[in-house]
Amino acid sequence: MKSIAIIGGGASGTLSLINLLKEKTSEQIHVHAIEKETEYGLGFAYSTDKDFHLLNVPAHNMSAFPDNKSDFTDWLNKNGYSYDVADFVPRKIYGRYLRDCLDKAIKNKSDDVTVTFINKEAVRIYNESSRTFIQFTDDEILETDKVILAFGNFKPSNLRLEDMNYISSKNYYQNPWMNDISERINKSSDVLILGTGLTMTDFVLTLMNNGHEGKIYAISRNGLLTMPSAPTKPYPSFYEEIKGVKAFYELLKSINRHIKIAQNTGMDWRSVIDCLRPHSSAIWIALPPDEKRKFMKRAGHLWAVARHRMPRACYDKLSDLRSKERFEILKGKILEIKQNDSSMSIKYGSKDSREINTLTIDSIINCTGTETDYEKIDSPLIKNLMMEGIIRKDELSLGLDATVDGRIIGKLGMATRNIFTLGPPLKGVLWETTAIPEIRQQAKAIARLVLNDES
Ligand SMILES: Cc1cc2nc3c(=O)[nH]c(=O)nc-3n(C[C@H](O)[C@H](O)[C@H](O)COP(=O)(O)OP(=O)(O)OC[C@H]3O[C@@H](n4cnc5c(N)ncnc54)[C@H](O)[C@@H]3O)c2cc1C
Repeated sequence: MKSIAIIGGGASGTLSLINLLKEKTSEQIHVHAIEKETEYGLGFAYSTDKDFHLLNVPAHNMSAFPDNKSDFTDWLNKNGYSYDVADFVPRKIYGRYLRDCLDKAIKNKSDDVTVTFINKEAVRIYNESSRTFIQFTDDEILETDKVILAFGNFKPSNLRLEDMNYISSKNYYQNPWMNDISERINKSSDVLILGTGLTMTDFVLTLMNNGHEGKIYAISRNGLLTMPSAPTKPYPSFYEEIKGVKAFYELLKSINRHIKIAQNTGMDWRSVIDCLRPHSSAIWIALPPDEKRKFMKRAGHLWAVARHRMPRACYDKLSDLRSKERFEILKGKILEIKQNDSSMSIKYGSKDSREINTLTIDSIINCTGTETDYEKIDSPLIKNLMMEGIIRKDELSLGLDATVDGRIIGKLGMATRNIFTLGPPLKGVLWETTAIPEIRQQAKAIARLVLNDES
């Protein structure tokens, strides 16, 4: 019997498990599905209990299965949800869908495949002879043949400042995805959100829904707000023109040229960005490391706001709050956070710190995004895996080093025979890898790889 352990029961782990249950195999398989939180199948993104936390991908592109693109929209119809294919559905409904897909896969699985759910935190993985062992917080050990690391997204890191006392304040929240933060924040208090991306948007909506009356500020170095989605027509692919391009500026020139062409013909810039999506990973892989760095430095922030767009309804809500001066976006780098008796004073400034501004607020919520630098991630499992050289970070600190098909590359630079990953940890390798349209393909491929790999 072959045994496979999946660490992480978010979307990546759940889709890997579903695919393992669906694949035809000639041998007996046992899967250990490991998740530290109480609910399996949701992860950070889909464990929200708020109706107004929406998917940022339209329903028609959120199927769990690459070979059945209408599975999610069919499921919505069958389950009495009246959403259009272009709608942005609440993320908690998507969580229900994932759970339902898993229940069906378990019901229809062959007798040759068995699964055990383990509600524990894995803290160490080690190899002895040709076997692999997983250790949990309670020191129990599990022996397995293969491991899929599906630990996904990690909470944001604290800002490194000279005075770090702010992190012990009861009014500082490092994990923005905890469901009950907004209830703990005084409605009349002034709040500073670190970050101006999609998590910030979620948080502002959560505060407003909770009847917040104080002023809300959000700050980032570039002060850029995520762009709103809009209906688009498909733009013809120009991948052949940029295939294998090795210089970032050449790529940028070509994309800008096509945006102009699109706009001159009455099309939207979004169509050009969207037509690149199926090829983003191939474009990224072709760029040498220094050119990837240039992209990150010069255009990473622009790509982030243009590619990962927010539903129009959320954008309109934020615009309305901004026009009423209840919400303000600040541009600058946080230089200092000082905890006073009941408030916090902030100093922030331009990149060169020539212009310094001050602000007094009551609470801070860290929405700077998931930590991707594996040297900074605060997880016993990651610390142990790094220390023992089983994993290493990719050269841009965007995730883990791995082969393009998800085989982990360890400290010695060799692909491991028994440890695999998918989803967010592959960002440095594939770039476009954090959302469902990519994760569903990877989950299918990784299930096949793990089942058929004899090494
Ligand atoms: C707030 C938010 C909203 C998003 N919205 C969308 C969207 O609308 N559409 C879209 O396509 N994508 C969206 N994404 C992208 C998201 O990354 C993917 O859709 C997907 O949820 C990633 O799932 P995951 O399983 O890789 O990671 P996660 O959701 O982070 O799940 C990882 C799981 O691993 C568990 N875990 C970690 N370490 C251990 C351990 N040592 N032992 C046991 N368990 C462990 C964690 O508890 C967690 O449940 C969103 C992401 C976020 C953060």
